[in-house]
Amino acid sequence: MPGRNFLFIPGPTNVPRRIQNAMNIEQEDMRAMDLPAFTKPLYEDMKKIFKTKTGRVFIFPASGTGGWESAVANTLSPGDKVLMSGFGHFSNLWIDLCQRWGLDVQALEVEWGEGVPVEQYAEILKADKNKEIKAVFATQNETSTGVTSDIAGVRKALDAADHPALLFIDGVSSVASIDFRMDEWGVDLCVSGSQKGLMLPTGLGIVCASEKALEASKDSKLPKTFFAWEDQIKTNDLGFFPYTPPMNLLRGLRVALDMLLEEGLENVFTRHNRMANAVRAAVAAWGMEPIAKDEKWYSDTVTAVKVPEGFDGNEVVRHAYKHYNLALSISLAKIAGQAFRIGHLGDLNELMILTPINGAEMAMKDLGYPIELGSGVAAAQEYLRNTKTVELAN
Ligand SMILES: *Cc1c(COP(=O)(O)O)cnc(C)c1O
Repeated sequence: MPGRNFLFIPGPTNVPRRIQNAMNIEQEDMRAMDLPAFTKPLYEDMKKIFKTKTGRVFIFPASGTGGWESAVANTLSPGDKVLMSGFGHFSNLWIDLCQRWGLDVQALEVEWGEGVPVEQYAEILKADKNKEIKAVFATQNETSTGVTSDIAGVRKALDAADHPALLFIDGVSSVASIDFRMDEWGVDLCVSGSQKGLMLPTGLGIVCASEKALEASKDSKLPKTFFAWEDQIKTNDLGFFPYTPPMNLLRGLRVALDMLLEEGLENVFTRHNRMANAVRAAVAAWGMEPIAKDEKWYSDTVTAVKVPEGFDGNEVVRHAYKHYNLALSISLAKIAGQAFRIGHLGDLNELMILTPINGAEMAMKDLGYPIELGSGVAAAQEYLRNTKTVELAN
């Protein structure tokens, strides 16, 4: 097919040319004497992304799921009681992972379209007088529904109960795209991956651990080999790895971090907010709504667009792919067919974000949706034109 494919799923995201070039290199010796001069600043800059001074970053050849496994296996023990909540595909997968690891999981079921039930967490933590709960989990950005949760609120709930449980955050589709503050929010474990906000191909599972989490790792009794922190710490401290590192991805990560820090994290967040607002303006112009039930849950990295009764959102995705070479994202599990998703994270600007709106609009019109052609694009154009002077002034 002539022309290019347009990728607007919530990960993997577009890899900027500058990063692609940085990865397109000869293989190299992972024990070269000058490697530490490359790896050590990589950890330091990754800490800036997590906004931590005291935390420690681990980078595994894995995906975000490997990051989950590493966070759990290194800090908890069989039968440990943990508090979790499920309100989408990814938060539920994390629950499943903890159950398979033999933890004693209290999983709160939350309606899809909402996020972490902070008040319920607060009550449960307050009632846990003997401090039996060892860890509290929160998915910051539920990618399947386009819902962002209040992580500072979860920290407040822990503090209000004077509770020592570790705080685990899934930041796979939020870190480097929307506000995240490891130290300020008292997060103990944050998990991320390379193929979303970091604009890289899949292949890195990145974990940030607080001092408290590192301390807890000394008593953890779950088995670990590949993901063992102890082995990483020993070698990472010298600038190396316990096994062969994915050097191309690490070279790419170097440039991704440069790009994010050059733009400035706050500007990156503002840009994501504008991209998201443009998509939401289009959705409103179509007379449709996000799956996220309330504005406070709206995600700045992905929007799940709820389709009208009688339509199949996943048909929009298939149609857009087949006829317009556009990759939107299907809706999964419990809401399969009820929505289609537009990923708006990573290396994006104004004209790029008009593309999935344009393509979705054409696909929906083809499929008989009651929308006016051009309405979503026009609404997004208006929003982007009207906000540029304010937002881009620098
Ligand atoms: C993508 C994603 C994951 C899974 O990450 P993989 O890299 O696919 O293993 C987990 N959680 C969230 C919120 C995600 O968006």
